[in-house]
Amino acid sequence: MILVGDAAGADPIFGEGISFALGCGRIAARAIRAAFARQDFSFRDYRRRVLLSPLGQALTLRWLIAWILYSFQWRWIQILFWWVLKPLVALIGLLLVVNWARRG
Ligand SMILES: Cc1cc2nc3c(=O)[nH]c(=O)nc-3n(C[C@H](O)[C@H](O)[C@H](O)COP(=O)(O)OP(=O)(O)OC[C@H]3O[C@@H](n4cnc5c(N)ncnc54)[C@H](O)[C@@H]3O)c2cc1C
Repeated sequence: MILVGDAAGADPIFGEGISFALGCGRIAARAIRAAFARQDFSFRDYRRRVLLSPLGQALTLRWLIAWILYSFQWRWIQILFWWVLKPLVALIGLLLVVNWARRG
């Protein structure tokens, strides 16, 4: 059994899941093809495949950002993130958080 889509991991910031479900399906299809080629159905490397993919990296980053944002709910942290560091936050967001499928 291998997990895909919401079952494999949900996005805690935007609730985006359709693109991740499609991306996971692609990784799963490749893992199944490799399993048939090797006649090894343990799927030992599937988790690594997901985590190391652009999809996995984007999800991990979103979990990290959500953890930071939800843990530190002081007003000054929110001001720092969304106003003072806004250009930096936007740049990191554009480069690493959204558009992950293009990087794949
Ligand atoms: C209200 C709402 C709004 C959303 N809006 C967006 C959005 O705007 N953009 C976006 O990207 N994402 C959005 N999402 C998230 C997105 O819908 C999910 O992340 C995505 O559908 C996950 O796809 P999935 O294939 O993993 O799971 P699902 O689409 O949930 O598919 C799982 C399927 O498995 C079936 N199933 C469950 N148990 C069994 C069983 N035992 N046997 C057989 N079949 C079973 C279910 O009936 C379902 O059809 C939204 C979610 C909700 C709830």
